[in-house]
Amino acid sequence: VAGPPERSTTTGVGLLEVLHAAELEQYRQQCVADLDRYVMPRIAAAERDRRCPRAMLEDLAKCGHIRLRWADGDSAQGLAYSLVFLDELGQTLCGGFGAAWTVSAEVAPALLRHGHATSQLRDSAIAGEQIFCFGVSEPSGGSDLLGLRTSAERDGSGWRITGRKKWISLARTADSAVILARTGGPGHLTFFVVDQGQNGYTVERDLSKLGTHSVETCELALDNVRLSDEARVGRVGQGLSLFARTIVHERIATVALLVGALRASLELARAFLQNRTTRGGQTLWGYQALRHKFSDLWATERMLRASLYTVAADLAADRGRSHPDVAALKLLSARTVEHALSDVLQFFGGEGYTADWPVERALRDARMARIAGGTDEILRETLGSTVLSTERIKRWHDLHSQDR
Ligand SMILES: Cc1cc2nc3c(=O)[nH]c(=O)nc-3n(C[C@H](O)[C@H](O)[C@H](O)COP(=O)(O)OP(=O)(O)OC[C@H]3O[C@@H](n4cnc5c(N)ncnc54)[C@H](O)[C@@H]3O)c2cc1C
Repeated sequence: VAGPPERSTTTGVGLLEVLHAAELEQYRQQCVADLDRYVMPRIAAAERDRRCPRAMLEDLAKCGHIRLRWADGDSAQGLAYSLVFLDELGQTLCGGFGAAWTVSAEVAPALLRHGHATSQLRDSAIAGEQIFCFGVSEPSGGSDLLGLRTSAERDGSGWRITGRKKWISLARTADSAVILARTGGPGHLTFFVVDQGQNGYTVERDLSKLGTHSVETCELALDNVRLSDEARVGRVGQGLSLFARTIVHERIATVALLVGALRASLELARAFLQNRTTRGGQTLWGYQALRHKFSDLWATERMLRASLYTVAADLAADRGRSHPDVAALKLLSARTVEHALSDVLQFFGGEGYTADWPVERALRDARMARIAGGTDEILRETLGSTVLSTERIKRWHDLHSQDR
């Protein structure tokens, strides 16, 4: 495994400045080389086995890609590096690996920053020595966090957790799960780290899915799992606010992966259109209707990418206020990229519908983005309540009443 790449440590620079620095272009080349070496050769087996290879995550961590992300906390520089890596990972057209990486390299380190007891775990996550999955959703529903049933009760100086989790990506590969449980009334939630092999903790079944086959998605059972207080992440009752601060990382990572997947699919499509000849030696690229369709999709990719960088720059500069924009971007990108990938597949005709080309996989994998990390509907609910300012409506109403 190649050694970690070097990264200069300029502080106080904005994300866009970092993204456009020559150093980032070198880093992109390194990402491509590492992904060619550690990811591409593993996709086919992972898709077949329905399981994420642990070695893939470990090798990429050893290359330093998680360390670069979190080297100085949650800086603009770190986020810029992460966007480049995720873009290139998206371009492998393996959304399952993208989901696995998001959980272990983005969500887990972001969450484990909270609380002294877990800082050591965070270092292990960054080094890729310990792999984490993220257990929030439950069989009774993933959208309604206030309705979570898994409960953690005080047990001497520690805790006892009982409940079930569903849809947990990477659950078999991970060494530990970061679990959200009720520690009081509705909304009084706390995160805990539970290790594989701990008494009462079972990965029960693998779910059979439409896509993201290269990562397992499982149901977990927690039956009176005893934990010391050291296993707690953040303060008791802080779970909901930690969830809100962590989910932005999952959402922005999802968008970067989607944009990468759309870019790579379009590049494949252009090569296909330019190579495939029809009657009289005319290539498909020679047909204006196809070229124009291609241009529309290319424009979509360019503008989603520009929005990603803008929203990410705001996120890096000011964490809290940009969260609704991250939600809006994820809502828009997931739907747009799903439709765009379906149009890209169309360029290939019957070929596109076969597994001979990775576009069908990209389309199936991208569909997950409209569900995980907040469904379209929940994001709309969140945005609706954030954006609709009753103050503005009242002002508008008052002004119009004066006119009349
Ligand atoms: C492939 C995959 C991987 C996943 N990985 C993880 C993971 O690693 N960890 C994890 O914790 N979770 C994970 N999830 C779970 C994901 O976050 C949930 O599926 C999602 O939050 C929705 O929950 P649900 O499936 O229970 O649907 P439900 O909450 O039952 O919702 C069903 C439908 O009703 C809609 N709905 C629900 N409530 C409302 C409302 N108030 N208003 C309007 N519409 C509403 C939803 O939008 C959805 O369309 C994963 C999901 C998938 C598909």
